[in-house]
Amino acid sequence: MATDKEIVYCVEKGKVYHSRADCSYIEDSDTCTPYTIRAAKKSGRKKLCQRCKRKDNKSIDIVCNLAEANTLEKLTCYAKKVWGVKTVDLSGLDPLAVKETFIEMDRVFKEFRVLYGYISKIIVEDLRTEYLKANNLRSEDFMQCVPEDDMLSVVIKFDAYIYKDKDYVFTEYEVTKQKKHAPKGSNYAHVGAHDLGHAVEAVLTKLSQSKDYLLIKDWNESRVLMNILDVVFDGCVDRMSKLREISRDIEEGIGETIGEVFADYYANGISANKSSIDIMNEIKRRINMKESVMPKGKRMLPRFVIEGYAVYGDGKDTPFGIVDVKPNSPDWVIDDYKNWLENNEYRKRNSIK
Ligand SMILES: [Zn+2]
Ligand SMILES: [Zn+2]
Repeated sequence: MATDKEIVYCVEKGKVYHSRADCSYIEDSDTCTPYTIRAAKKSGRKKLCQRCKRKDNKSIDIVCNLAEANTLEKLTCYAKKVWGVKTVDLSGLDPLAVKETFIEMDRVFKEFRVLYGYISKIIVEDLRTEYLKANNLRSEDFMQCVPEDDMLSVVIKFDAYIYKDKDYVFTEYEVTKQKKHAPKGSNYAHVGAHDLGHAVEAVLTKLSQSKDYLLIKDWNESRVLMNILDVVFDGCVDRMSKLREISRDIEEGIGETIGEVFADYYANGISANKSSIDIMNEIKRRINMKESVMPKGKRMLPRFVIEGYAVYGDGKDTPFGIVDVKPNSPDWVIDDYKNWLENNEYRKRNSIK
């Protein structure tokens, strides 16, 4: 049962609160603010929305059945109803391979609730580059996570060929692992955890954005990751020698770090590589700060989330909601916040505090 501290969403009008970021009332509303249930009740929204309640109940039925979801239809239904994914098309994939991958993804969703409603599509695509196509080579990616819409959501893509056959995807992954390009102890299903790791990274990037127009640059340059590594490897000169131990994939592209950390962590739990655990703890610390739930919605997003307060707005012409950076907020939050203030004309003109 929901505790009073659980996060729900409130829109301006109405006497109810919403448990689902994908609720149609939220989508029809101009603004959406995350509250704790306690705060929602205080503000006069005493009850849970009926539509959300029905969706929650449905989810519970299906949740029990993921292990028995042996068809693409059921898996599609699961992703839509439980994870709040709008478009799901798994055509042509091996249902068992998808199911195993979904089971690992589900573990990530449960730990990172911010992802519910954040994945807009799960689709199938030929993930080969033009070069690979021309040379008739297979894709180097089993799956991809692609941010879209200014990082308000991400798309998950399965490779059309690799995921066509459970034995094939299994073998391909084992080969990759033998070359140490995947964490020890993992299997192909952890590709799902890997790509949701990228999705969590997109959320952190969005939440910590300092200037809107730099967002995709931040993403491409792995700014959030670099910041996390600064904290985790404080003072350590040769980070790569440690990261390489998780997976050689990271050596080839530092941007794969969070993905491989997720694969390692969900495959091995507390037996995962020490650096993976340290990085994971830092990610959780940042994302689990109580109110850091990003509601799906085009107009308002928590920009910084600090000790129960959030700063909203798209940084351009939207009025801001609650603004409160507490002195004991983590340094990176305060720095990001200052940075944002300095670079925001609207804030300068309309100083709230
Ligand atoms: Zn609702
Ligand atoms: Zn990746």
